[in-house]
Amino acid sequence: MDDSRSRQVLIAGAGIAGLTAALAFSERGYLVRLFEQAPRLEAAGAGIQLSPNATRILRQLGVLEQLLPAAVRPEAVVLRDAATLRELARVPLGEAAERRWQAPYLVAHRADLQGALMTRLTERPDISLVTDARVSGVVPGPHVTATAEIAGNTVEAGGFLLIGADGVWSNIRNLSASARSGSAGSGAQSASSRFSGELAWRATVRADSAAGEAFAAVGSANCVTTFLHPGFHMVAYPVSRGRAFNMVAFTAGEIMAESWSGRADPEILAGAMRGTAAALVRLAEDAGPWTAWPIHTVDKRQPWTTPGGIALIGDAAHAMTPFAAQGAAMAIEDAATLAGFVAASPADPAAALAAWEKMRRPRVAKVARRGALNRLAWHASGPVAVARNLFLRLRGPERLGADLDWLYGWRAPEAGAR
Ligand SMILES: Cc1cc2nc3c(=O)[nH]c(=O)nc-3n(C[C@H](O)[C@H](O)[C@H](O)COP(=O)(O)OP(=O)(O)OC[C@H]3O[C@@H](n4cnc5c(N)ncnc54)[C@H](O)[C@@H]3O)c2cc1C
Repeated sequence: MDDSRSRQVLIAGAGIAGLTAALAFSERGYLVRLFEQAPRLEAAGAGIQLSPNATRILRQLGVLEQLLPAAVRPEAVVLRDAATLRELARVPLGEAAERRWQAPYLVAHRADLQGALMTRLTERPDISLVTDARVSGVVPGPHVTATAEIAGNTVEAGGFLLIGADGVWSNIRNLSASARSGSAGSGAQSASSRFSGELAWRATVRADSAAGEAFAAVGSANCVTTFLHPGFHMVAYPVSRGRAFNMVAFTAGEIMAESWSGRADPEILAGAMRGTAAALVRLAEDAGPWTAWPIHTVDKRQPWTTPGGIALIGDAAHAMTPFAAQGAAMAIEDAATLAGFVAASPADPAAALAAWEKMRRPRVAKVARRGALNRLAWHASGPVAVARNLFLRLRGPERLGADLDWLYGWRAPEAGAR
């Protein structure tokens, strides 16, 4: 392999996973070509919670300092009963999070995170970002060749590694499955993602609007507040320096088209909120119209790497339900650790990919299980909800924080310590 190819990394997808991977590989001296199918980078959805396991990596990559001025450091995560609005539990964040996990817990507008990543990206001449460029084919390695459709032209690009950071409906996942099975797949189907049965309903309101003031009255304007109810929960937090609130409600729902945002019958949301406090119902009415997002997950058995130099990261590898608010954090961890493992084994990228996947799988699986547990607990009813509330009260803020040490206090393993 000529020297430039042996340093060249190709990335499909410039979401949080792809942008972070570009920075992490560039930081380690690689040349990066990043292909994004959209003509312009647009952040899908409004808000994002960034826990310390993610912000620690963003700090190492020089992204955090760009993000901090626009983000909010919430005081606490607060759980409330959606029917009575009574506080059930509180996990201190703010200064306490920084002391405990040595990095901030932030909430931000997704566009601000994307802006901070892009600011760093444009400072790196070794990264080239091409938009309106859909990766449509791949021939695995040892030289990986990717085919991209760029503004109507078909272009080939080569490198030693292709990273599929192309989201839950990943084309690279399908192409790599086709390459493994020997069939000439076009990557047209997305066989290994499936609708989870849940809808996420999203709305953003200005803090100085009627809905914003209503939220400040029922919640805690400087906290991440989760309202719990049988079969429903809603998470709300400030974004954009506190000038707006991001709200996401979760209900069961019908399957929707393969796209992030769309319409669903608002009656589903109204029905799921039956029995919640009148103030919360009014807030939901004032905050509308809500955009419904179908939650899709990826088959856990799907391989993330191939010896031929393909690695899937972020939602392309392991899209999970968002009930632990960790999908982007896992994408960020994936990107940083993949760069570390590959850089530590320059002579044997295939072994590095296999070792990286082996290291990442248990962590990602544990996080996904935590999300599933949260969903069960938050949507509980009857005696199970009573037991949950008692547990939360007895546990108290300090121990609830300590219960998250494994998640938020996580550090990337040293390269070579596998
Ligand atoms: C309601 C909801 C709330 C959430 N809240 C949180 C939270 O608070 N905290 C958190 O950590 N996570 C959260 N998540 C999860 C998080 O949003 C995702 O895990 C994360 O955005 C995944 O990033 P990604 O880069 O892997 O994928 P994506 O963001 O989907 O990016 C994929 C990119 O690849 C591009 N692309 C696709 N195909 C191709 C191709 N063939 N060629 C080139 N480009 C291509 C797409 O256009 C896109 O830009 C939430 C998710 C949902 C649904």
